[in-house]
Amino acid sequence: MSGTSISVAEATLKEIESAHAVNDDQLWTLHFIFGKNFEGATRIVDQRGIKRITAEPSGRVIFQVTGESRRKDQYVCFPENFCACYSFFYDVVNRGEQLCCKHQIAVRLATSLGACIEVKVSDEELALLLCKI
Ligand SMILES: [Zn+2]
Repeated sequence: MSGTSISVAEATLKEIESAHAVNDDQLWTLHFIFGKNFEGATRIVDQRGIKRITAEPSGRVIFQVTGESRRKDQYVCFPENFCACYSFFYDVVNRGEQLCCKHQIAVRLATSLGACIEVKVSDEELALLLCKI
């Protein structure tokens, strides 16, 4: 994964964000960069599997993404740097083969499209969620 691919992906996601819509060219570009992970990410977005959780009163935001497997696991996910799923540790951190996991792409895509489910919790509830990672 080269730096150029990352900046192209960033630029494309910014375009989607300002238009709040995605066109075929952009889908093609993101698919080219992220490959199979992007297919998984679009399925998760289609299933409305991304929760944007805002804690009050601190205003801290985390994302929780529903997995694609039958168990429907929920992963705490930070689009820039962390996901609680197996693939993040195995493919991204250990082997460095992927830029990010499909949940992180799903969060970026859903945020750009305004497709997240908004959830409000207390700071205590957020702390409990983060303990379970
Ligand atoms: Zn993940």
